[in-house]
Amino acid sequence: SSSSDLITATLFPGDGIGPEIAESVKEVFRTAEVPIQWEEHFVGTEVDPRTQSFLTWESLESVRRNKIGLKGPMATPIGKGHRSLNLTLRKELNLYANVRPCYSLPGYKTRYDDVNLITIRENTEGEYSGLEHQVVRGVVESIKIITRQASLRVAEYAFHYAKVHGRERVSAIHKANIMQKTDGLFLKCCREVAEKYPDIKYEEVVIDNCCMMLVKNPALFDVLVMPNLYGDIISDLCAGLIGGLGLTPSCNIGEGGIALAEAVHGSAPDIAGKNKANPTALLLSSVSMLRHLDLHDKADRIQNAILNTIAEGKYRTADLGGSSSTSDFTKAICDNL
Ligand code: NAD
Repeated sequence: SSSSDLITATLFPGDGIGPEIAESVKEVFRTAEVPIQWEEHFVGTEVDPRTQSFLTWESLESVRRNKIGLKGPMATPIGKGHRSLNLTLRKELNLYANVRPCYSLPGYKTRYDDVNLITIRENTEGEYSGLEHQVVRGVVESIKIITRQASLRVAEYAFHYAKVHGRERVSAIHKANIMQKTDGLFLKCCREVAEKYPDIKYEEVVIDNCCMMLVKNPALFDVLVMPNLYGDIISDLCAGLIGGLGLTPSCNIGEGGIALAEAVHGSAPDIAGKNKANPTALLLSSVSMLRHLDLHDKADRIQNAILNTIAEGKYRTADLGGSSSTSDFTKAICDNL
């Protein structure tokens, strides 16, 4: 086919295991003949003054232009004078919601076999506003920002998601009994949006109770929406319920229809460069990217090939108790396509 039939998507291979698992996605897409051409961008070696980070202006422009992309994990370089890579992406591209589906994989046994939930994390404010300072020696302060605009926006996305995906319930996770003003405002916004969706059940669950319920019986939950830090923690807890960080995908939703998919996990420096990483999380993220583009046939085929390979059990990476390398596991998926 000519290149005009192809959809251009931005790809950040990222750091650590990023390039290895990105290679796996490229290979699976080639085998499945997905009509996508990648525009690859790498984290720079020096700070770009236009972004004040190691991310280049061109790479951000690429996502803005294509409106669709996939990113590998990025390790946050230590040192002064630059912004965190992930924070730069979230802020510059206004990636306001991070959607993290988490479901039991057929054929891979964990304590639970009926996990099927979605966490939706507010991605731009809360405890991640980056406003920390010393008040006097021995006393530091961190400012948690909650705005009506960002809370309504993420609540709206959560209910919209629930409706479009045939989900029955949205649970707002909070600590408003202690954080009365901030989490209180977040809840107020969720309630307002809930009223517009009478067909979807709405409930509010205090975060400590939510943790207890999740480990006792994860089937109690459907869609969960929450402020930034709670989402960070709860989604890792959920990953643990189904077999770990090697499995869980996510998608960042931004203003103007931007979608940037990424694995939940980080750059895993302990296993980087060893051909050991599980590419499933990034592969399933790439599947969510395809769904965003309405390429459902390709998405289904790839998802089935991944799940079948894991269920067959012959090729599994070390995090799932197997001994396959990243490339052998990837080849098994391609053979299953
Ligand atoms: P991590 O997720 O990189 O690793 C935690 C543990 O999980 C490690 O033992 C690792 O080996 C394992 N693991 C993670 N992904 C795996 C995979 N695909 N297959 C097999 N095992 C896997 O978390 P960390 O060690 O806390 O962070 C490392 C770096 O990544 C830090 O610089 C951090 O800032 C960054 N980070 C980036 C993102 C992102 O880009 N979105 C997210 C989290 C952490």
